[in-house]
Amino acid sequence: MLKHRLATAIFAIAIGEILFFCDLGSPMFYFGLGLSTIVYLIVEFFGAYFIGLNFHLKSLNYLDKNKNKIALTFDDGPSQPQTLKVLEALKKHGVKATFFVIGKNIKGNETILQQIINEGHSIGSHSFSHHFWIDMWGKSKLEEDILESLNAIRLVTGKDVKIIRPPYGVTTPNFRSVFRKLKLQSVGWNVRSYDTAAKEMNKVLNRVLSKTKSGSIILLHDKPDFIPELLDKLIPALKQKNFEFVSIS
Ligand SMILES: [Zn+2]
Repeated sequence: MLKHRLATAIFAIAIGEILFFCDLGSPMFYFGLGLSTIVYLIVEFFGAYFIGLNFHLKSLNYLDKNKNKIALTFDDGPSQPQTLKVLEALKKHGVKATFFVIGKNIKGNETILQQIINEGHSIGSHSFSHHFWIDMWGKSKLEEDILESLNAIRLVTGKDVKIIRPPYGVTTPNFRSVFRKLKLQSVGWNVRSYDTAAKEMNKVLNRVLSKTKSGSIILLHDKPDFIPELLDKLIPALKQKNFEFVSIS
């Protein structure tokens, strides 16, 4: 059973118990009702926020933990010149990665998108708009947005994308039903670099190095200025630990 459904079932049972055992309108009734609702909302919030919990839908958050394969993933591109610099670094080190692109960023960067494919990397959707409130949208608006991203990628590369990373890694029941309808596999991560919030490259480097294990999917962005330099240090260090880099497809 999905954790979201389990939480909702427990919440419904709790409400049922309160209605059965407490006098309607009594302080105990309101206390029980309030407490159950607050606990349920907190559980739902964490479930939506942490993609690795597989609360609302099942995401691929890591690869086979018994193999030494790991995956570098880059969100929020394509952009100039950062995506090009990231591609250059990956090429230099002979590493394949996965790019979760924002549909609206493709216009004007079509050649970069094609270059990603030509150089053997994988592409996934990261929605069209990456709208701040996308997780609040209804099913049809969400489906429209995601379809627009898939069409934008297909128009340039001729490829049908099968993987998606929800913006901000937030998942909801609407994401679950739209992904199911469009036959998309959600991809999360189990190593978060916090690269977009970082002031120092070395902190990101040390965090990723210490957290990466067999099967790790590492979340990065082809956005911060230091990413190409980070890759120059990170990739050789991970290779030295015998990890093999793969793209997700
Ligand atoms: Zn993003």
